[in-house]
Amino acid sequence: MKKVFLGLCGLAFAALLSGCCMKHQWVEATCTEAKHCEICAKTEGSPLGHKWKEATCTTPEICELCGKVRKEAPGHQWVDRTMEKPKTCSVCGETEGSPITCTELVLHKINPRDYDSQMFSVDTMAFFNLEEGVIRIFDYEENELASIDLNPNHREGRTYDYTSVWSEQNNNMMIFTTDLDEDKNCTICIYNQRGELLGKFTEKVDVPDGQILQMRRTVDERYARFYASGASGLHGVTPTLCIDYVDMVVADVNAGSETKWYNAKKFSRVIQMPYCDNKYNLAISTDGTKVLYVHSKYYSVQAEYADASRFNMSGLALVSEKGGTYDLVDTDLNIIAKGLLDAKYADWGGAYIFTLWQKDGSLKFYKIQ
Ligand SMILES: [Zn+2]
Ligand SMILES: [Zn+2]
Ligand SMILES: [Zn+2]
Repeated sequence: MKKVFLGLCGLAFAALLSGCCMKHQWVEATCTEAKHCEICAKTEGSPLGHKWKEATCTTPEICELCGKVRKEAPGHQWVDRTMEKPKTCSVCGETEGSPITCTELVLHKINPRDYDSQMFSVDTMAFFNLEEGVIRIFDYEENELASIDLNPNHREGRTYDYTSVWSEQNNNMMIFTTDLDEDKNCTICIYNQRGELLGKFTEKVDVPDGQILQMRRTVDERYARFYASGASGLHGVTPTLCIDYVDMVVADVNAGSETKWYNAKKFSRVIQMPYCDNKYNLAISTDGTKVLYVHSKYYSVQAEYADASRFNMSGLALVSEKGGTYDLVDTDLNIIAKGLLDAKYADWGGAYIFTLWQKDGSLKFYKIQ
């Protein structure tokens, strides 16, 4: 009897399997698998295939059906902000932040004709008059802070000189003055941006008759190199005197390596941009008539200007194609402001401030934000 029962069950199972009365267990099609039966693996139709949704800057290329990722989100293609536009993605147009704005900080009216040159610091402005032998320093309320007499001994003929430099060390202006007497003793004074005396030296120097001693260049943010006024082509030329203006001592004349300038000797001067990416520098042509925008390693010329002033720490420079008006450019030479009049850069540390010296004598200070 048991045998008969088992035999019947076997028949029933066989009947089920043959499909006469048992249903397939269908599994719906997916991207990669066709609709199929879980039990007998019979298929119907074909796989759906992935339904790819294109990637955007911030979302990956993804299958809408199964969520499979084919390509990660590429990220935005940012284009730096300009005066017109904020930082903008060139692909999707997404923006971040705001356009560069120039906030007018201070407006002064002064008479530029009274001075040969001027330099602006964070809190002072210095006006240099070589003929009268005076440097006058004011704060921005126009109070005179200091008056430096370049010819204190009232010697006949010009025996004095001045040079003003921006010092990254102090993040401010430094002024070097020289005054040579009949016995070739030179008095050198070093002042800060407020006209305060930082160091004073009297040194016997070797300067040909009829020439004066000039501070012509600083090296390594530390050494001020003094040359006779007749000296030209200063690369490799030993200075007459060298002062370490960090320790305020007279230094060896060879102090401050010149070797790094070797590649650059086809230019009379290369203005290094210590706080930028250092990819490009400004260089002055040997005849002094052109400012070149050069690759800092290969010294290949990228662009040529009639005039230019150094980058500030944010990588901006003022350049002039023909002289007269200036464009503000970033380190890739994109013009972000055009037609500035006779502008001077004030490298006020990270404050990105420049001044706009206009022909009518108005002096504007801007903060780039
Ligand atoms: Zn089946
Ligand atoms: Zn899929
Ligand atoms: Zn984007």
